[in-house]
Amino acid sequence: MKAGPPPSRLSRGWRRLLILLVASLGLVLSMWQAAQLAREQALQSLQQDAENELRLSAEGLVGHLSRHEYLPRLLASREGVRRFLSNPDGLDPMPLNLLLDRFRAIAGVSDIYLLDRNADTLAASNWHRPDTFIGQNYAFRSYYQDAIAGHQGRFFGLGVQSRERGYYFSAPVWLDDTAPDATPDGVLVIKILLDSVEEKWADQEAELLVTDHDDVIFMASHPELRMRALHPLSEETHAALRNTRRYADQPLSSSGIRVLESRGEASRLVGFEQGPLTAGSYLSLSRPLEAFGWDMHILKPLSPVIRAQWLSALLVGGLYGIVMLGGGIGWQRLRLRREREQFAERERRTLAQARDELERNVQRRTHDLVETNRRLSDEIDERRHAEERLRQTRDELIQAAKLAVLGQLAAGINHELNQPLAAIRAYAENARTFLERERPEAVAGNLEQIVELTSRMADISAQLRQFSRKSGDRPSAVSVPACFDYALRLFQTRLHYAGVTIERHWPGEEIWVHADPVRLEQVLVNLIGNALQAMADTPEPRLRLSIDRDAHHVTIGVADNGPGIAEAHLAKVFEPFFTTKSRGSGLGLGLSISSRIIDELGGRLVATNLNGGGALFSIVLPADTQTTIHASSQAIAGPEDHDTPEETSYHA
Ligand code: ADP
Repeated sequence: MKAGPPPSRLSRGWRRLLILLVASLGLVLSMWQAAQLAREQALQSLQQDAENELRLSAEGLVGHLSRHEYLPRLLASREGVRRFLSNPDGLDPMPLNLLLDRFRAIAGVSDIYLLDRNADTLAASNWHRPDTFIGQNYAFRSYYQDAIAGHQGRFFGLGVQSRERGYYFSAPVWLDDTAPDATPDGVLVIKILLDSVEEKWADQEAELLVTDHDDVIFMASHPELRMRALHPLSEETHAALRNTRRYADQPLSSSGIRVLESRGEASRLVGFEQGPLTAGSYLSLSRPLEAFGWDMHILKPLSPVIRAQWLSALLVGGLYGIVMLGGGIGWQRLRLRREREQFAERERRTLAQARDELERNVQRRTHDLVETNRRLSDEIDERRHAEERLRQTRDELIQAAKLAVLGQLAAGINHELNQPLAAIRAYAENARTFLERERPEAVAGNLEQIVELTSRMADISAQLRQFSRKSGDRPSAVSVPACFDYALRLFQTRLHYAGVTIERHWPGEEIWVHADPVRLEQVLVNLIGNALQAMADTPEPRLRLSIDRDAHHVTIGVADNGPGIAEAHLAKVFEPFFTTKSRGSGLGLGLSISSRIIDELGGRLVATNLNGGGALFSIVLPADTQTTIHASSQAIAGPEDHDTPEETSYHA
């Protein structure tokens, strides 16, 4: 089966993409939102600034114009003016021209001039200029029409002569104002230029416009905007304006303003499709200048708003980035920690599995071991039983060997017992005879002999009983000379009849070995018995018994001067049932049992041939260096005092 990509990994990829998308969307949204907020705030602040600036500029303009409003009335009431007006043809206009010029200079206005009833200019402050108003008729101007009607007049428009924009105030001049139906005889007019106001506006970081009721831009901080229509003018308006000659022959083309967004009654965002302000957008506020029938507009560039917008967006974007980065790092760390925990959990589970497996293995092994242990215990028990049986068998064999030796001894013992028995009998018969002959002292002597003989028989019997006894279990300190003496005593009769010379070679003091006394005696009896058998045909039989001692060992030697052991048999003599003797004379067990006994006592039994003929059997046993009185009491019998070497001859 073909496996596809793991679904979890696929979904993780999609999840990442989704997170990335959401994060990007969040970034864009938060930046947009921040930009919106910043824009709104900046706009509000800009609007406040604009309102203030607009208010100040409007008040400045109104103040600048209004402070000259009184001047025409003041001059109209001047005597010099009225006098000249009463007789213009007869009087020299020059003094009046000079007066007007002086007032013009004092008041800081552009021009002051006097019209007669028919709107012809009689005198003017600019009498000396080539484009002087003197002689010009201004009947078409509204300021003339208003004043001649008896009112104060005001007007704005381009000068007919100068083509300069000016604001005009006018007042009627009465020669006689007492009559109720009197009409004015002339009109006094002042003209104020507006350039100085606009020059001040140029310092502001805003564009200022003043429009008339036809939306014609009459004043503007930017020169190119002047004499343009804020919004395109209709043909009728054009025609009406041409009639009034207010703006002379100016084309009054459109400013190209375009409203981008309306933010309230007098507040909107605007741009320009043509003209000098096409580069940017503006916040436009308007304010009516009611005294003049004008509207004043301020255009604040939106660049600070856009700057604030970008700044906030970037700031929030940066913050968002930092937060997202922090979040991402936190999320990564969380993910790493979770992965680590999962890994640890997996490890823990693997370890637990391994531990369970190990426990199972250990249990299995333990079970095997217990089983093996049980089998081993069984085997050990079996072996112990086998050893026990073996020991019993061996003990029985040893006993059998003893009995065999006893058999060998039987002839001698028989003789030993028969001889005193015959003597007792003879002494008893003799005693009876002595009784009959009434010789009591002789009877007593015989009875004495009988008692001695029976005691000797009891000794022999005791020796046999001792030999046939079973050994003890624990080795102890054993006197080697005492063991020799015991063995020799058993063979006493045989030695005597065979005429064997005994040589004893050992130091005068006791020599102790660590052994089982019964067993050691049995071995010595075996060796001496074999030696006697070997020397049966030797003319001068000689038995050499020796005990040598070094720091740790005691060597016991039994040597004869018989034929020795054939070389071929030397290696075999310790094998069970090896014998060179005729049936009935030997079982072939003596040496093998003796060798085993000595092995068990921690020693060894060695057979060699002597140079001068004969065999030597050597027993090497561990010496008992810490012999106690208690140990010595366990010795079968104390040695008789004898010299070393001592030679004893038994003769038949
Ligand atoms: P057995 O005396 O019944 O034969 P042993 O084990 O005591 O059994 O002796 C084994 C053999 O060792 C004897 O048959 C004999 O050939 C040899 N042997 C033992 N002692 C002597 C000795 N002193 N001199 C020569 N041969 C000996």
